[in-house]
Parts: sequence; C-alpha cells; structure tokens
Amino acid sequence: MEFVYEANPARVIFAWGARAKVAEELDRLGISRAIVLSTPAQAALAGEMARDIGARAAIVYPGAAMHTPLEVTESALDAVQSSGADGILSAGGGSTIGLGKALALRTGLRQLAVPTTFAGSEMTPILGQTERGVKTTLRSAKVLPNTVIYDPALVTTMPAAIAGPSGMNAMAHSVEALYAKDSNPVISLMAEESIRSLGRSLPRILANPLGDDRDAWTDAVYGAWLGSTCLGTVGMAIHHKICHTLGGTFNLDHAGIHCLMLPYSAAYNRESAPNAMRRVAAALGVEDGPAGLYDLMQKVGMRRSLREFGLTEDDLERAADLAVTNPYYNPRPVTRVDILDMLKAAYEGARP
Ligand code: NAD
Repeated sequence: MEFVYEANPARVIFAWGARAKVAEELDRLGISRAIVLSTPAQAALAGEMARDIGARAAIVYPGAAMHTPLEVTESALDAVQSSGADGILSAGGGSTIGLGKALALRTGLRQLAVPTTFAGSEMTPILGQTERGVKTTLRSAKVLPNTVIYDPALVTTMPAAIAGPSGMNAMAHSVEALYAKDSNPVISLMAEESIRSLGRSLPRILANPLGDDRDAWTDAVYGAWLGSTCLGTVGMAIHHKICHTLGGTFNLDHAGIHCLMLPYSAAYNRESAPNAMRRVAAALGVEDGPAGLYDLMQKVGMRRSLREFGLTEDDLERAADLAVTNPYYNPRPVTRVDILDMLKAAYEGARP
C-alpha cells in the first residue's frame, strides 16, 4: 500500500430542513450582505432564501447558466460591486455553484453553497468556465466553497428527468475515484459507500418521483456528497474526459451524458482496473460492475444511446479524435480505435 492523502478543508451541515441554518452559517462566515445566486428557473428559491436571511441579502442574482459563461460572470460581478455584497450564497445545482466559484475566484469573497442537485460541484476546488464557446477548467483553493448546507428537502423538487441523470453524474465521480491515479484508501471507502447509497436510492426516487420517499432522497444526497468529495480530492480519467468532450463539442446536457456514458467508460476499464470493478459490483450488489451500471442507467436515465442524443456516426469520429488529443491518465491506454469502439457501443445503446 502506498498513497498520498490530502483533504480539502470543509464544513458540511447535513439535515432535512437544514436550509433554516443559512442565516446562522452566513453569520459564522462573517457575511453580512450576500449576493444570492440561482438559475432563472430557480429564481423563486433564491427569492425565498433572500427573505429568510433578511438584511443579510444584498441582492438576488438569478442569472446562472450551464458551464459558467464569462459574460454571466461579468454581469454578476457588476451586481456584486453595485450592491456592495461581501459574500456569496449559491442556491442551486452545478451551474449556480459554478457562478459562485467564478465570483469567489475574482473577488476573494467567502461562499456558502446550498446544493439542489446531485452534480457535486460544492465539495471541489474545480471550476469550469466558458469563453466564446471554449470551456477551460482550473483548480484553485480560492474557489472551494467555505461552507456547504445539504438539505435533502431541496432536491425533492427535481423532476425525474433531472434527478436520475444527476444521480448518475454523482455516481460517476465515485466510480472513477476507485481507479484514480492518486487513489487512496479513505477516498475509496467514500466512493464505495457513495455507489452503494446512490445504487439503492435512485431507483426508489424514480419509482416515486414526487418527493414522497424522504429516506431515499436523503440517502441519494448522502451518496452525492461523498461522490463530490471524491471528485474534489482525486483525479478523474476516461469517463470525465469523454463526457467533457461530448458535452462541450455537441452542447449536450451535462448530467444526461454522464448517465449514459458511465457503463461504457467503466466497461472500457473492466480488465485494467479489476479491483475497482469488484468494488463497484459489491456496492451495487451485482456480479459485474459495468453491467450493473448499465442496468441502473436503463432504470434512471432518460436517453439510453448517443443516437437518442441526436449524434451522428460522423460525430463519433470527431469525438474520438478530440478524446485522444491531450494525453491523460487512464488505467487502460487510451487509443483512438478503442475509444471509437466504446462510442459506437454507446451510440447503439448496447449492453457493455
Ligand atoms: P444545473 O445546475 O444547470 O441544473 C439543471 C437544471 O435543473 C437547471 O435548470 C436548474 O434550475 C434546475 N434545478 C436544479 N435544482 C433543481 C431542483 N431541486 N428542482 C427543480 N429544478 C432544479 O445542472 P447540474 O447538473 O446540477 O450542474 C451542471 C453544471 O455543473 C455543469 O456546468 C458542470 O460542468 C458543473 N459541474 C461542476 C463541477 C465542479 O466540480 N466544478 C462538478 C459537477 C458539475
């Protein structure tokens, strides 16, 4: 056994109804006038949060968008300056938390994140930003949220079409953590527990999507928190690379593409990461990890092939070219011909 373990600082409050603690946690961070961020679709939630925190709300900015476009960040920066905000409250999924991180990077302001999806940006020092259609990713301690409040009641409003793929997005962080270049025993424990929690809770949520199954939603948020911690601590491999490539090049839904591709990228590494695959299978209670992920994707995913995402066979060639442009770590060597085979299987929706 040989490893380096380096944890990110974190303060996490986890409870059903924990949103009631937002004001107290802002005070703890010394934030007296927060900019309250959300997407346009979640403007009502941002408004409620602002009401809950009273005078601690400087301004509501419900303009967050997928992949953190630079023009949105610049307009939010103007809102920080004109309102005199001295801290950031991000209430939403990865898009909203991404905007909070982009503001923290540029201003040094402290952040309180209140996630409402399973995407898992909140526990990571990673920020992806888009300028003129090109997405770049950076790692900096400056963007890591200072406090995270997980309130499972807040995710229950996700419709099935968002919740299922978002849960598989969280699962992807944990699966890749098990075969990461810098994997370590603590993160692997978290990853396995995350896969177990998400594997048992997501089908229950999808069978009963109107928010009734409180235990299942809580279990899924717990799994998503662990997955996010994995993502923030160890490096990712082929799965995140291919999702980044497909999502960025063809402008596909972030969570949806993670959900579809996870069984295929796990199958890519089936022979080269046997220990990781054993742990995935054990956590899902199945014989074979990639096949278990495929069955789960079939239950909770919305689009079950790259064809259903509207891609063409020519697009697969282009994606394979892009996926091999920058060398990166993966347990199995990454070659164009193998990547193309994987993409073709995903195009057909074949069982890996
Ligand atoms: P999102 O934040 O764009 O949310 C998707 C949609 O769901 C939005 O319209 C949003 O308003 C809505 N929504 C969110 N929560 C809801 C709820 N509880 N009820 C009803 N509707 C709700 O999507 P996402 O998948 O959470 O995040 C994707 C983005 O996050 C991508 O840009 C991705 O790159 C980024 N991300 C970054 C990291 C990181 O570590 N930097 C990690 C994961 C994801």
